[in-house]
Amino acid sequence: MANIIGVTLSERAVAGLVVDNKLASTLHCFPEDGEEDGALIEMPTDGLVKMLCEQIICAAKSSKDIAAVGVALPGVIRSGVVEDSPNLPQLKGARIADLLSAKLVEHGLNTTVNVINDADGMASGLAATQGKLDRLIRVWTLGIGIGYGRYPFIDGVWEGGHGIVSLDDKERFCGCGGRGHMEGIMGHRAMRLRFLDMEPEEVFEAAKTGDKRCLDFKRLWHKALAAATATEIHQEGSGKFFLTGFNVRFVDLPMLRDYLQQMVKMSPLQSYSVEIVADDAETRVIGSAVAAEQAAARH
Ligand SMILES: [Zn+2]
Repeated sequence: MANIIGVTLSERAVAGLVVDNKLASTLHCFPEDGEEDGALIEMPTDGLVKMLCEQIICAAKSSKDIAAVGVALPGVIRSGVVEDSPNLPQLKGARIADLLSAKLVEHGLNTTVNVINDADGMASGLAATQGKLDRLIRVWTLGIGIGYGRYPFIDGVWEGGHGIVSLDDKERFCGCGGRGHMEGIMGHRAMRLRFLDMEPEEVFEAAKTGDKRCLDFKRLWHKALAAATATEIHQEGSGKFFLTGFNVRFVDLPMLRDYLQQMVKMSPLQSYSVEIVADDAETRVIGSAVAAEQAAARH
């Protein structure tokens, strides 16, 4: 069985040793528990690479023969290069796999580094931890931005969170600058831009008491999620969709299912299901490692 280091980078960096699709070490985090999040956004690329390298070396300490390192981070990732990353903009254009490999060699660890999109990492992690490595798994990560993950990994862009869910010219809150995007309605950052006087938590709280502006937005938010999911169903078929990320707390499943029913009418497509799952770092770390192991097997 191969020893793989899985790493996930979003609001925090978390690394762990994974053996046979299971976590085999404690998780190493930066910033550590209790410290303030947001430190990563300020960090230049070489600082990020150095910090990731330190986490990987810590996670690898107890074992020899690390077969591969898998890293998941937010953005468009192709062939080890971050082509774009609206939520970690300093990484745009970074040849992150090469940078990290070189840094690891300096620390005596000579291994392959596989980099994937963080939502794809979550999808791989859910497939592995739920024993569904033979199935199509799709996941929406509802956080600062909106990620779309798919397992098994196939080449492509898959920026489903930037799918168009509105033709309204006023819908321009997406972090990427594009108009009418799902993330421009559902992303945490976008919600704060839309409601300058209220936090997203307060908006959804006020919707419960019938505040019209907030209730209208709650409906729009669920319609956006239903529309993007319906689009994926019409492209790749029905099946399992997971919802995760810190903003799943705002999801009203009956409302979402009602909109989905209105949007998906063809009978062969109606056997879809939607499930909320906890966003734990362990699943993401396992997913990054599983993806790295599968990539190593392909080469
Ligand atoms: Zn966008």
